[in-house]
Amino acid sequence: MSAVYDTRRQSIALSIVVPIFNEEEALPALAERLRPILDGCGEPYEVLAVDDGSTDRTPRLLEDLRTAWDQLRIVTLRRNSGHQAALTAGLHRSRGAYVISIDADLQDPPEVIPDMLTLARADGLDIVYGIRVDRSTDTGFKRRTAAVYYWLMRRLAGSFVPAQAGDFRLLSRPVVETLKTLPDQQQIYRLLIPSLGFPSGRITYQRAERVAGTTKYPVHKMVLLAFDSITSFSAAPLRLATAMGAFSLVVCLAFLVWALTVYATGRTLPGWTSLIITVLFFGAVQLFCLGMLGEYVARIYTAVQARPTYGVARDTDEEQQ
Ligand code: UDP
Ligand code: MG
Repeated sequence: MSAVYDTRRQSIALSIVVPIFNEEEALPALAERLRPILDGCGEPYEVLAVDDGSTDRTPRLLEDLRTAWDQLRIVTLRRNSGHQAALTAGLHRSRGAYVISIDADLQDPPEVIPDMLTLARADGLDIVYGIRVDRSTDTGFKRRTAAVYYWLMRRLAGSFVPAQAGDFRLLSRPVVETLKTLPDQQQIYRLLIPSLGFPSGRITYQRAERVAGTTKYPVHKMVLLAFDSITSFSAAPLRLATAMGAFSLVVCLAFLVWALTVYATGRTLPGWTSLIITVLFFGAVQLFCLGMLGEYVARIYTAVQARPTYGVARDTDEEQQ
């Protein structure tokens, strides 16, 4: 690592990481609101706009914005790799003493950024979570699924997971460096970061409506996130398989006793109903358990392959050096 690189890294007080996927409608509003706040902090900063393989006018808009905004740094991923992968790319390349991740759609208010920074410095915190206290602007469906998600995660992963903390948060350099040492896998940051145990604080805010455009998180991606969250932080489903196996064994023994009794009394023929129910029941339990095992095997497979979760096609900062 060159000396130049080091001094640059140290001189930046704050990095803002923004994962962006097809946000042509939201980008102008984002720049307009974010920039005065960051300029107002009066400290050197960088904004890492991670273009997650956008196919609309996003790359052009970013380029235009950069001509008049020196601190804007564009990191372009080779293809759409997903929100968390884009976040990883941004975190790994950030240079600031503090790093704040924020969505591009202004659902998380950038006005909170200076408060996060002040709180972290005043209390010597490594993490400041943005906690959504009011989600009335989200749809009822999103609110309910989010409530179930956080409840389940606190039950399965541990109570260290702060409820209603999304991906709007501040991290100190030591936290980012710790994250960088972890193997490159699909990280679920909202669970991984609390599990590291760094001193943390919270700032509450009201979740706003998306400023423009539509959600890039359709239901199937939400389900995937929930699945990944559970399987990467808990072996509870595997234990569930064991529990179901034990339960089936008990049921099976009861059936055995019954079957023998019926045999002894000589009424064996009309046994079709119980037979088919038993066969279906155990078939279902076995398939379910196999599927659950498969989920974990799939994760082991992905981890063993150790393929990068993202590829960077371009980083405007490297061009300047
Ligand atoms: N995003 C991304 N890659 C994706 C999907 C989303 O970088 O594959 C970005 C998106 O541009 C936004 C953030 O991740 O800045 C959160 O997405 P969105 O606001 O659509 O999610 P929601 O708030 O609806 O859960
Ligand atoms: Mg959003």
